[in-house]
Amino acid sequence: MRIGVLGGTFDPIHKGHLALAEASIEGLKLNQILLIPMNQHPFKNQDQIIASPETRLEMVRLAVEGNPMCHVSDLEIKRGGVSFTVDTLEELKKKFPDPHTLFFITGGDWGCELQSWKNINRILSLACFVVANRPGYHVSQLPEKVSRLEFEPLNVSSTEIRCKIKKGESISADVPPRLEQFIKVNGLYLNES
Ligand code: ATP
Repeated sequence: MRIGVLGGTFDPIHKGHLALAEASIEGLKLNQILLIPMNQHPFKNQDQIIASPETRLEMVRLAVEGNPMCHVSDLEIKRGGVSFTVDTLEELKKKFPDPHTLFFITGGDWGCELQSWKNINRILSLACFVVANRPGYHVSQLPEKVSRLEFEPLNVSSTEIRCKIKKGESISADVPPRLEQFIKVNGLYLNES
């Protein structure tokens, strides 16, 4: 089995993430992809993450509901603390030992800073590391073991969505309808960006 792993803060999840998941399924010939909301981001301050882990998890579940290829994992939230990729991949490798192959997928923004990841060499031995293109980010050089996924990314980010909500602008182009509804009903992101 070829299993994709897509981590993120998903604050909130948006169509850019979903397009990346779809492109990964197709381009990497995955049998399934796991979306894993982080508990705490290794490179972001905790006050940069607005919604609670449980709310972000719920939003990811809503966004992929009914898609048999996309699964949602709460393992980083359950583990607590800072969500280091190496710890997640160690856990997943126990659950999916060889001959399963793990593909860890990230957008170009984080691919630029691979050397600062905790135990990057161990990460590269646990999973095939894939960097996808993302508008506004140019990844020129990648280590030998890292591959690229070329796709047509959408120019959307969670930061932009939070700003739009604060300004009272529509986010219907950026998130699936049921997620837009969830954000509205729960009054998320109205006061923060
Ligand atoms: P924020 O704006 O809050 O920093 P974000 O939109 O970058 O959030 P994350 O949850 O941090 O979203 O992203 C999770 C993963 O998805 C990362 O690997 C990121 O590079 C990738 N990603 C996010 N948005 C896009 C996009 N529009 N196209 C391609 N990849 C994306």
